[in-house]
Amino acid sequence: MADEHRVPWVLGTQLHPAVGPVGRAPEGSRVLLIEAHDFARRKRYHHHKLTIVFAGMRQFRDELRERGYDVEYIKADTFGDGLETYFERHPDDELVQMRSPSHRSAETFAELVEAAGGALETVPNELFVGTREAFDRWANETDREPFRHETFYRWMRRQTGVLMDDGDPVGGEWNYDDENQEFPPEDWQSPPVLELDHDELTAETSAWVAEEFDTWGADEELVWPVTRRQAQRRLEHFVDVRLPEFGPYQDAMRSDDWAMAHALLGSSINLGLLHPMEAVEAIEAAYHERDDVPLNSVEGVIRQLIGWREFMRHVYRHAMPGLDEANQLSAPQDLPEFYWSGETNMECLRRTVEDVHERGYSHHIQRLMVLANFATLWGVEPSQLNEWFNATYVDAYHWVTTPNVVEMGQYGDGVFASKPYVSSANYIDRMSDYCGDCRYYKTKDTGDRACPFNALYWDFLDRNEGQLRSNHRMGLMYSHVDSKQESGEMADIKERVAELRRKQSHGEL
Ligand SMILES: Cc1cc2nc3c(=O)[nH]c(=O)nc-3n(C[C@H](O)[C@H](O)[C@H](O)COP(=O)(O)OP(=O)(O)OC[C@H]3O[C@@H](n4cnc5c(N)ncnc54)[C@H](O)[C@@H]3O)c2cc1C
Ligand code: SF4
Repeated sequence: MADEHRVPWVLGTQLHPAVGPVGRAPEGSRVLLIEAHDFARRKRYHHHKLTIVFAGMRQFRDELRERGYDVEYIKADTFGDGLETYFERHPDDELVQMRSPSHRSAETFAELVEAAGGALETVPNELFVGTREAFDRWANETDREPFRHETFYRWMRRQTGVLMDDGDPVGGEWNYDDENQEFPPEDWQSPPVLELDHDELTAETSAWVAEEFDTWGADEELVWPVTRRQAQRRLEHFVDVRLPEFGPYQDAMRSDDWAMAHALLGSSINLGLLHPMEAVEAIEAAYHERDDVPLNSVEGVIRQLIGWREFMRHVYRHAMPGLDEANQLSAPQDLPEFYWSGETNMECLRRTVEDVHERGYSHHIQRLMVLANFATLWGVEPSQLNEWFNATYVDAYHWVTTPNVVEMGQYGDGVFASKPYVSSANYIDRMSDYCGDCRYYKTKDTGDRACPFNALYWDFLDRNEGQLRSNHRMGLMYSHVDSKQESGEMADIKERVAELRRKQSHGEL
């Protein structure tokens, strides 16, 4: 087939002009983008999430046209409708698309193209650091399941040569996680967040989203990039200004500080506006070129980008189908309504839901140790929390929420987590300033106004004893459970949990 009939089909999460088939297509080539709307009607997504996807695609269309590409931009209810329109116009074309990381999407797209009378070639997704084949080779050579992030991460460091010094990790250690857990002093000011100028096209798209779809989220200013230039500026600003502070306070949470010193790059990388290696290279270069960038900051972000993000993609691939429905602890509860309304007396949850409502974002520890922790302790069915994350976060897609929420957050499967990430108020108090303003007492387990996390924590361990007691990493916790059972304290805890459940059913938690 002549090259002019081999047309890149760029998905809304692949908006990088230099990567994949579109990056190799000469100027003047035809490029296809289909803006499909039906998915956005299926649930209440955050307004900003839909805005960045649709505005990102429209901006990318205009950017390609300015560079001289012949862009077919089709708005349709479904991809199937869009493809029919396309092949009516260009019956001799063959489409070429980078594989989407979402489960079965390559097969689904191939079926849709065939039904529209066309042909599709699916090629590897170059918007990740590693390849499927390399991961599978590694997985076969190592102990395979359960996958262990730390082993994978070290292998990725060696493969990429990032932060390596003659075969050894720079600084002598692979992982500085224990230097990422400080709480800042009271007078610490987090570095500023770079403001973005959004143009008329983005403003129009945002207004159209509000009119067209039933969305969730506050009508706040959009703080997320929708163009590659904006994403590049965010990265530059992160590296120049925010990176030095990232390391020590990576896990800390403050009520009036939604961004702390986080990268705020997840939505841009997941849309394809930035390649993860662009971020890694800029961060590593800053470490080598500047004196003010500590290793715990640099290694901390790089671990997320070449470690956790890549790991999640592959674990998802290996554990699907099934991971999205996994529920090894048989958690039966519905997601409490306050995840949507924010109406709860629990300050940590109230402030975190407020952050998500305002911008479609909260940082990692709020996601893990507040939202997912509570849901796990409460016994929420993991798929319900996964749905919630998927709808409400600007950086959420099925491939990345599912392993993060169902497995890391809720210990749904065991494909990589070696124990549940759960804690009582103790951890939240140590890493945040929420408890000081809370109606509940962080140190009380039972009785009036005792923090719900405390009784729920002991109840969680007690009710899941059959599955968790034999886990050697939980041994210490079960010695406390034993003493609470023996002293009769567990009966009071059970009574407190029953009361909490009654309160929740009346919207009084
Ligand atoms: C319950 C739960 C749900 C999550 N849902 C999502 C999600 O929907 N989408 C998403 O991209 N990340 C998700 N994460 C991972 C992580 O919390 C976000 O990537 C991060 O908070 C994004 O903010 P940031 O750009 O400021 O990241 P930083 O904390 O500054 O980290 C830098 C970058 O590393 C990458 N990264 C870090 N951790 C992860 C991870 N565990 N998985 C994938 N990428 C990672 C992101 O690209 C991020 O931009 C989730 C984590 C948990 C515990
Ligand atoms: S006391 Fe409990 S509910 Fe309140 S903020 Fe602290 S951990 Fe959250």
